[in-house]
Order: sequence, then C-alpha cells, then structure tokens
Amino acid sequence: MDLYGPILEKALFPAFEAARGRPTVPLLKYLQGTERMSRAQLRDLQAGFLRRLIRHAYLHTAYYRDLLDQRNLRPEDFDSVEALAQLPLLDRDTVRTSFEARTAAAPPRWVIQKSTSGTTGQPVVVKYNAESRHWRDATRWRGYGWSGYRIGMRAYHYWGFGPPSDSWVKRQKVALDRAIKRDLYVDCTPRSDQALMGAVQQLKSYDAQVMVAYTAGAAALAKFVNEHKLRDWKSFPVLVGAERLWPHDREMIQEAFGPVFETYGCREVMLIGSECEAHDGMHTSMETMIVELIVRDLDGTVRNARPGETGEVALTDLHNLACPMIRYITGDLAVARENTPCSCGRGLDRIGPIEGRVTETLRDGNGHPVGGLVFNILFGVLNHVARKFQVIQRVDGSVVMKVVPNVGDKLPDADYKKVQDFAAKYLPATPFSVEYVDDIPLSAAGKRKVVIVEKPADATA
Ligand SMILES: [Zn+2]
Repeated sequence: MDLYGPILEKALFPAFEAARGRPTVPLLKYLQGTERMSRAQLRDLQAGFLRRLIRHAYLHTAYYRDLLDQRNLRPEDFDSVEALAQLPLLDRDTVRTSFEARTAAAPPRWVIQKSTSGTTGQPVVVKYNAESRHWRDATRWRGYGWSGYRIGMRAYHYWGFGPPSDSWVKRQKVALDRAIKRDLYVDCTPRSDQALMGAVQQLKSYDAQVMVAYTAGAAALAKFVNEHKLRDWKSFPVLVGAERLWPHDREMIQEAFGPVFETYGCREVMLIGSECEAHDGMHTSMETMIVELIVRDLDGTVRNARPGETGEVALTDLHNLACPMIRYITGDLAVARENTPCSCGRGLDRIGPIEGRVTETLRDGNGHPVGGLVFNILFGVLNHVARKFQVIQRVDGSVVMKVVPNVGDKLPDADYKKVQDFAAKYLPATPFSVEYVDDIPLSAAGKRKVVIVEKPADATA
C-alpha cells in the first residue's frame, strides 16, 4: 500500500507550503467550494476582484491612470465583468512597451518575473506578486484535481526542457521540489523508437499514477505503446496541454494509458482551462482570471464570440496587482460555448477546443522525429536577448533559426552558444545555422508560426 502519497497530500505538502509562507492549501479548499457556485455568483465574485484590480491599477500605475483618464473613466465605472469592454485590448507589443508603466508604485511588489514565448514566437515578460502566485498554484491543483490527480501522486511528466539553469542553487531547488512532490520528468522532444522505448521503460519502473504531457508527445508515445502492444499497466489519468488534442489522439492515449483530460494554460497566467470528468469542453479558472473570447469585425467593432464561433483569447489576471494585465491578447484562438451548466455540476464557464496550437515535428539528421515545441521553451529562456524568432526546416533537412536580436545585430556569445548546444542536443547530425533578421512578418492569417517544416513542392503541380 502506498502510504507516502496520502501523507504527502494531507500533512507534508501543507506543512511544506506553510513553511514557505504560501497559503496554497487553504486557497485550494476555497476554490473547491467556489467551483460549485452558480455562474451568476461566480460572475459577481469576478466583478469584485475586477474592481479591486482596476482601482489599484488606476491609483498606482501610470499606464492605467492614463488609459482611464483619456476615456473619462473612473474605477467606480467597473461594476460588472461586462464593464471591462470599456478598456482596449492589450496586445503583445503594448505588453512590451508598457512594462514599466504598468508596474505598480505601491505594494504588493512583484516577486516573480518570467518570460514566455507564447505561440507566436514573440516573447514577452510578465511579473507578479506573491498572492497572484498562490492563486495560480491553487488554481492549477484544483483543475488538475478534476482528473483524479492529487498532490503526492507519482506524476510522470512527459514534456520539453529548456537549457539547464545557470544557477546551481536554482537547479538544486528545482530538484528538491521535484523529489518532494515525487515527480519524474522525461524529455518528450526526441521521438525515435529508441527514445520512446526509453520513455516507456521509465514509465514502468516509476509505476506512474498520473501523466502530465505535451499533447503531441503523449500521442506519439501512445501510438508506439499501442503498435508494439507494450501496455501492462493499470489505467491512469493523462493530462495533456500545450498543443491541440485531436479526437484520434485522445483515443490512442486512452487505449495506451487511460482517460485523457485536456488542459489549456500559458506561462503568463498558468492554468486557464481544464477538462472535468464530463470531457465536454474546458472549465475556465473564473476565480483567478476573466477569459474573454474576442472577435474583431472588419468594421473595427470588438465583440464577444458567439457560441460555436472562434475568438481571440483575452485574459484579465485578477490577482496580479504588481504589474496588471487587463484584456491581454494571448495569441491563442478558442471556440466559444453556450453558458449552460455542465453535467458535473460546476458553475465555471467552459471554452474549447483551443485552435492554433498545432506544432510541427522536425526530423533530425538521422531521420528521427523531434517535437517542435521545444523551441518555444528555448526562446522563453532567451527572451532577454531575442525579440522574435522562427525555426525553419528546409526540404534538404537543414535547419535555419531566424532571430531578431533585442540589442545590436546578434545574440551575445553566451546565448549563441546555448542555442548551438541546444541544436546539437535535439537535432543531432543536422546542418544548423542562425540567421539574424530585422523582422519576421506575420503570415496571411495574422499568425507567426514558431516552427515551419517546408514540404517538397509537388512535382506534378
Ligand atoms: Zn464539468
């Protein structure tokens, strides 16, 4: 019998969090209550948090003070979630240029800063206060919990890694954190048969109770397991995210491991939506953020997407007072749904599927598949030196990384070496080069793809 898991959940983890001054566990309990409230009650809750956010932003940030004054608005004008529509959308360029002006002059101060590449290859930096972090952590545990994933379970993480941290202290802290929470991290980027077999062996010897994976990684591993009839384990939940989940992938993953729970998140705010046991769309994290699906019509009007319609995801992070992000356009697209109650009984709105999360698979010089999402991680790490980037695999197999440097006309030597080491690790025997450019234009659809794999031209065309 596994005693360590329940003890970790009930005693060790709360003590550990309390010792670090984090009220994650009380907040998690709170969220497990609020998720059962009606939609109207949840909207009221959001309106209350929104008022607090806008009042703070108006009083303590130059950016929002100007924005409201220009529009003759006062914080009292934001008495409902709908009132949010009075403010403009915050696009990625503005996030960059307004970084200082959005930083609040009064406490709570920011304590965490991180960079994110998003899905468009245009990194941004976010920073937030401690309370915001607690909400993020609790919200993630709440959403993950719908799959049956409890703190303390042996979790097998199958996703991508950035270059190791430069700081030895930071590396040790990460290792300690993972050991305490009993997590195993396996790199899902190499997808050769040998790499997949290694991942299966680790899964078996670890005796995983839950899997958290990149969608395409989980699908590739599931296909391998099913084709070689390797499954000899009991069913466990699989949480997938970061990439589009196709129906046939869901079936394959279910056959190989167990029930699939789709999640949707981003580094800017963490968990945005998560599937419940009804597997019918993703419930949004309403207590932590306002999720809007926006349609910008050709005549310039901005409106909410109708049920069944695809909209741009705009987020308002309700608990980040240190550097507010209000109506932030993430670059993702999601399908709106009717606000009808879910059969699970939770009052949280649902969205999905999420579109535009399709990442390409590259091939290394030995012909082995390599998951393309890993380059998003690389540039999350290099955000301070690169403004935009794109990875292109030519028909001849060579890979070119286009980079718009942040300062000057090239990457600093240390970062250039990181890129080269990264390419050597994940793209062995592949001709690889870095090309510095002034800009990387958007495609006709208004998106910038991070990874492009060129296909041979059709000879008959
Ligand atoms: Zn539900």
